[in-house]
Amino acid sequence: MVFDELLNKDALSVQDIVFLLQCKGDEEKKLFAKSESVKKRHVDNIVYLRGLIEFSNLCRKDCNYCGIRKSNLNIDRFNLTDNDILQAAEFAFKNRFGSIVLQSGEIQSLAFTKRVVKLLDKILKLSNGQLRITLSCGEQSRDTFRQWLEHGATRYLLRIETSNEDLYYKIHPHDKFHSFEERVEALNNLKLLGYQTGTGVMIGLPYQTYEDLANDLLWIKKMDVDMVGMGPYLEHSGTPLYKFKSNLMPQTERFQLSLKMIAILRIIMKDINIASATSLQAIDKMGREKAIKIGANVLMPNITPGMYRNSYKLYDNKPCTDENPEDCKSCLEWRVSITNNIIAYGGYGDSQHNSHKRGSTLRKI
Ligand code: SAH
Repeated sequence: MVFDELLNKDALSVQDIVFLLQCKGDEEKKLFAKSESVKKRHVDNIVYLRGLIEFSNLCRKDCNYCGIRKSNLNIDRFNLTDNDILQAAEFAFKNRFGSIVLQSGEIQSLAFTKRVVKLLDKILKLSNGQLRITLSCGEQSRDTFRQWLEHGATRYLLRIETSNEDLYYKIHPHDKFHSFEERVEALNNLKLLGYQTGTGVMIGLPYQTYEDLANDLLWIKKMDVDMVGMGPYLEHSGTPLYKFKSNLMPQTERFQLSLKMIAILRIIMKDINIASATSLQAIDKMGREKAIKIGANVLMPNITPGMYRNSYKLYDNKPCTDENPEDCKSCLEWRVSITNNIIAYGGYGDSQHNSHKRGSTLRKI
């Protein structure tokens, strides 16, 4: 089949996607031109901002790739005060970011649930309900998810990391804290409760194949999520997966593969929100902008108070760890403008996919 026909097919198979993921040169340019036009038509060249607040690196999990895993004793553990978090939220509100993401390691306790409830109440108050809040605090019970939803969180990010269960257990310990089944169940709970639900995967993991990545995209589509964040896997020297460092695809290839994943995702899920992951920027200084150009429509400037950023190192060479929020904001503006996109200041950027789904459910009723 000629390449253009493949790009215009209604439903891509695993083999089609594997082929697209490996394309190069002119074919790669065509893929990106296609995803760029799908983006323009369905979500326009508009970028929504989410101020990212990494509020704690305390974590009960021991993911084999992650720098804040429980067994990494070489990092300072921190937990921002409520005041620090509220100040960061206020910064986002005053600068008309429209929304924030509260992200942390995974803690499951009554105290943690209550703390987040309290923070949600305070953030909604300080912004007169005019900041959308996304949570990214790992797997939680259905009841905890429900409480957070009732207190104003409307979106939740929980990456599946890989949809291949065997690979999942190669990159996580095989124990009760790291169950693939429970992660999927948590995602389903989020959807059922009515969150705008986000997931995603890492690209270029040890053992990962092109088929795995193609299946990831089809899995994400089948889950019918509203938002996706995915980016290259990056080594962290304090983690068990570091020993595979020399067997991995070079970082520049992982980067290019991530762009192709984003482009194909935009083609198969036209109206979802796709975040341009920070890990893209760790490989290429203009990485996030390149992703915006070919399909992503959400940027997450880091607004965590500067002094804590070094302790939230999920991987080595994490960018923006020595900047303050003001620096990040001004550099973002010109970065976005050179991709022919504009920042929607004050826009909430709710997932259009989510409203389309709701619309069709209402029509059925
Ligand atoms: N604890 C939360 C979120 C914190 S980590 C949760 O479980 O959802 C946020 C994301 O960073 C993870 O979902 C993972 O996809 C990504 N991440 C962690 N380590 C990484 C690494 N070494 N390279 C690239 N991405 C990584």
